[in-house]
Amino acid sequence: MKTFIFDKLKSGHSSPRTQIYFTFAVSGLSRAASHQLVRHNNGITYDQQSQRYYAFKEADFPFVVPETWERAGLRDEYLAFMHRVGELYDQALKAGVPAEDARFLLPNAASTNLTFTVNFEEFLHIADLRLCWRAQWEIRHMWAKARNALKAEFPELAKPVQPKCGDQRLGYCDEPMAEYLKCPLGARRIRLHKDEIVAAAKAGRTLESSPLTEEDLSLLTPKPEFDKVLASTN
Ligand SMILES: Cc1cc2nc3c(=O)[nH]c(=O)nc-3n(C[C@H](O)[C@H](O)[C@H](O)COP(=O)(O)OP(=O)(O)OC[C@H]3O[C@@H](n4cnc5c(N)ncnc54)[C@H](O)[C@@H]3O)c2cc1C
Repeated sequence: MKTFIFDKLKSGHSSPRTQIYFTFAVSGLSRAASHQLVRHNNGITYDQQSQRYYAFKEADFPFVVPETWERAGLRDEYLAFMHRVGELYDQALKAGVPAEDARFLLPNAASTNLTFTVNFEEFLHIADLRLCWRAQWEIRHMWAKARNALKAEFPELAKPVQPKCGDQRLGYCDEPMAEYLKCPLGARRIRLHKDEIVAAAKAGRTLESSPLTEEDLSLLTPKPEFDKVLASTN
């Protein structure tokens, strides 16, 4: 079966990969990230915790604190704002505002729980876009964790799960050069950019590129301290 899947990966014949499905459970993802995730709708289906039927208790709603707010020295202000939102949310519920309307207060930072079932073809496609450095950090980290979970069960299947610049995908970076240079894989010359490949081809030269390693991929994935920040609530 693996041979069949990977031979077809090379040939571009995708249907064998659409017959393999994985189901994931995700918790603590911000609504900002989940909104991006659910834009993928081909070969993937979701169940997400409702903010209509589930009301947070005692002004205590979970939320994500991006590291940039910490680095900017604004963590306390951020937490105070979320606390105030929680208080007003609670006050509204107690005053009879239904949860479906009280939720209008909840910010993009509010975290959510969801499950999704995705076929392997779509898993690869989402990795193309969301493991890329240009993807927003939280969805990139989330997809890297999904890859890790896949790798723990099916190491062979995780190998081609790469950002689109990976040797088993497009093979080079097709983002604007300025963005390529900001990416750790571009800045370290781990991947080639399409402009230099085209320039080399015009000059009759070919360029060599090495396979993307797990170590390379780790440059795009969360550091352990991110997990601590993500778990923070009031
Ligand atoms: C870095 C980044 C920045 C983004 N910025 C924005 C933004 O500023 N604003 C915004 O609105 N969105 C933004 N998006 C979201 C983006 O526009 C898409 O909505 C998202 O990537 C999902 O689209 P997809 O084609 O990957 O969908 P998927 O459902 O994952 O598509 C899977 C595959 O099916 C194909 N496909 C999907 N739908 C159809 C269809 N109806 N007919 C035929 N083929 C189809 C796709 O071409 C793709 O190959 C951004 C995405 C990324 C990665």
